[in-house]
Amino acid sequence: MLPPAAKSLLSAVALMLLCHPALAEWYSDKQAIMGTEVAVELWYEKRHAQAEQILQKIMAEMRRIDQHFSLYIDSSELSELNRHASNKDAYAKPLSVSPELFNLLADAQAISELSEGAFDITFASVAKFYDYRKGVKPDRRQIAQQLPAINYKHILLNQQDRSVRFQRPGVSIDLGGIAKGYAVDRGVGILRAEGIEHAIVSAGGDSRLIGDRRGRPWLTGIKDPRSEEEMAVVMPLQDTAVSTSGDYERFFLDGDTRYHHILHPKTGDSAREVQSVTILGAAAITTDALSTTVFVLGVARGLALVNRLPGIDAVIIDNHGRLHYSAELERPE
Ligand code: ADP
Ligand code: MG
Repeated sequence: MLPPAAKSLLSAVALMLLCHPALAEWYSDKQAIMGTEVAVELWYEKRHAQAEQILQKIMAEMRRIDQHFSLYIDSSELSELNRHASNKDAYAKPLSVSPELFNLLADAQAISELSEGAFDITFASVAKFYDYRKGVKPDRRQIAQQLPAINYKHILLNQQDRSVRFQRPGVSIDLGGIAKGYAVDRGVGILRAEGIEHAIVSAGGDSRLIGDRRGRPWLTGIKDPRSEEEMAVVMPLQDTAVSTSGDYERFFLDGDTRYHHILHPKTGDSAREVQSVTILGAAAITTDALSTTVFVLGVARGLALVNRLPGIDAVIIDNHGRLHYSAELERPE
């Protein structure tokens, strides 16, 4: 039998526990950044205030990345680079850029090499004539005029002094196919430094999962590209990055023709071989760039690329709504 004093102490503790059911909890935040929804959810073992601080730190990092690499912010370093590229007297001269921008450009170039130009950040040279919200697209003459400016080989990177110059004037760069994945990886870097073992960071269609949902996998859905609510696939996942590119994110219809935000660098027209591509891999910068890449390549060439990349998997929904999986995912457990 416990003495009455110990009993009342125990019930006081029990009461405290009831009022603060657990110190460890899930914490989450969602904010509109980079033209999309950034969401973070994390399991934190310690104090509430610290978890909130970590969430804020990640959101601040996402905002910093947007300020640097957005096409729509005049003061961004990317806008400065694009002004340099369009300046007839300057484009061929080297412009020193930050190590961060230099590395992003180098990563983008590596994916361009890998995909023989299916991924190409100079697609913006034509993309700037589209306005998906207003249903505006370039006419034939504009495309013909601008198409020669699309080629990642026009961007010359000098590793020695981290400078960029261009082989011809009028090249535009858009990092929209890689920046969100990069931002997600940076968010994960912050979580890892804090010792977080269960979390998800996402920016639009790019996510990265740390650990599992404490004993259960994270459930990541791939939307049915032609339905508002339906999922085509739900995948139980953990410790992975996952990105989806779809033709239903930003688009307009002209008759039966769908004009959307992923462009084929060879034609300047929207890529139309598939409806959605999901890529799994270790880092979100890679899965982000590869989802756009495989979207351009289509089923056969896309799967051929994915199947020769170790640690990368793909789920593709083709033009008829049929699912295609990379070799690793098709193999039974
Ligand atoms: P989002 O999450 O914005 O839908 P996606 O991963 O689907 O991103 O990639 C689409 C974005 O990639 C476009 O908005 C554009 O910024 C960029 N993009 C489009 N076509 C290409 C291309 N051929 N190469 C590189 N980037 C591209
Ligand atoms: Mg992508």
